[in-house]
Amino acid sequence: MKEVEKVTSQTKVNSELERYLELTTKSRSMWEEAKEYLPGGDSRNSIFWQPYPIFLDSSQGCRVQDVDGVERIDFVNSMTTLILGHGHPAVVKAIQQQAARGLVYNAPNPYQVRLARLLCQRISSLELVRFTNSGTEATMNTLRAARAFTGRDKIAKCEGGYHGTHDLAFVSVRVDPKLAGDAKRPKAVASSEGIPKEVVGQVVVIPFNDTEASQEILEGHKDQLAAVIVEPVLGTAGMVPADTEYLAMLREFTQRNGIVLIFDEVISLRVAPGGAQEHYDITPDMTSLGKIIGGGFPIGAFGGRREIMELYDPTEGARVGHAGTFNANPITMLAGAVTMEQLTPETYHSLAALTERLQGGVRQVCAGLEVPVQVTGLGSLFGIHFTARPIRTYRDLFTRDQDLCQRVFWGLMNEGILIATNLVGALSTVIGEREVDTFLDSFHRVLERQG
Ligand code: PLP
Repeated sequence: MKEVEKVTSQTKVNSELERYLELTTKSRSMWEEAKEYLPGGDSRNSIFWQPYPIFLDSSQGCRVQDVDGVERIDFVNSMTTLILGHGHPAVVKAIQQQAARGLVYNAPNPYQVRLARLLCQRISSLELVRFTNSGTEATMNTLRAARAFTGRDKIAKCEGGYHGTHDLAFVSVRVDPKLAGDAKRPKAVASSEGIPKEVVGQVVVIPFNDTEASQEILEGHKDQLAAVIVEPVLGTAGMVPADTEYLAMLREFTQRNGIVLIFDEVISLRVAPGGAQEHYDITPDMTSLGKIIGGGFPIGAFGGRREIMELYDPTEGARVGHAGTFNANPITMLAGAVTMEQLTPETYHSLAALTERLQGGVRQVCAGLEVPVQVTGLGSLFGIHFTARPIRTYRDLFTRDQDLCQRVFWGLMNEGILIATNLVGALSTVIGEREVDTFLDSFHRVLERQG
């Protein structure tokens, strides 16, 4: 049986899926061909969806166009990356000019200083910063630096927290609660085959937003812990903000025990010019960054206290190695600097206000149709969850109506709205009230059809 036929027979066939199949015939044949060369037809598992993803052809502003010619408003912006939307003229002009001058050099370029200065000035924890090509490399380096600095090996992370795909971070990510056991003492579970059990054994897993249970677990490992890493807003899992009390506990515990506190702000830098650490007024020892700071080009960055970051300083012999052919390449640095320079405090305020309009509208639509919903998010980040139970912890996410979520995702695709499959998203500065209202009208129609 062909792949798509298999999926449609497994999935309760419904009009949303039928319409999706009708609208995406070219994507479907492209995906069939792609699978001959790429496992699953792509290089990024996080953006696969059933029965197959659309292939995009072009984008401009807040709109993307697929290979079948269908236009959609982009409410996910490459998993929160494109805060200025697609093809911002200032970014495009700058990189076009730079492309003609040079793509990548075997020597530093001035743009990385421009971007580093901007990040250090805005983000309170950054005394020094270094660039990588991905958020994965950024979190890998924060954890390695913490181990070198403390001389300890173990790290603690939250259940459901995503910090990229390197071994130490790829533990208890989208973990099935049945495998992880007690919500208050979650087991560390590898999120992929191929991760050595010795590595999993180095990871202490704590329940996100359960202050008491997390503190109890951490106290039991305090002499072996190099770092605690946390997303101040649990991002890809559902855009669930941490409670201030939770982050304050982590700050106090790590400080008291000489453990490095790492905020993974790859997504949450969207919350304020200085990131979620500004919003919560809590300064970690190290911060990892990515996504928006590259202006649409591959990027990551990590930084923090001078005494930790100086471990990387080669002038007197680096204690922690760090290389990368494309690290801080001029195109990425320039795109990142130009993008970040566009973002004023007012930009963050208006993005947050527009996101609140969307969140309030979703609640209203659901109330009108008597569909239980929780709407999460912070700043320009949002998540829609079909459940009556408030979403605070990772385990709360398992009360959601997944089947409805799947149908609403296809429905929104059919209506011309692009969003993540788990209905999380992020606004860009080129989305206005009109687009938000279009989203809400579409969302209303889709939910009504599920009746
Ligand atoms: N950390 C967080 C919080 C993320 O959301 C992501 C990616 O979604 C990463 C790290 C990894 O970043 P990258 O995909 O650039 O490797």
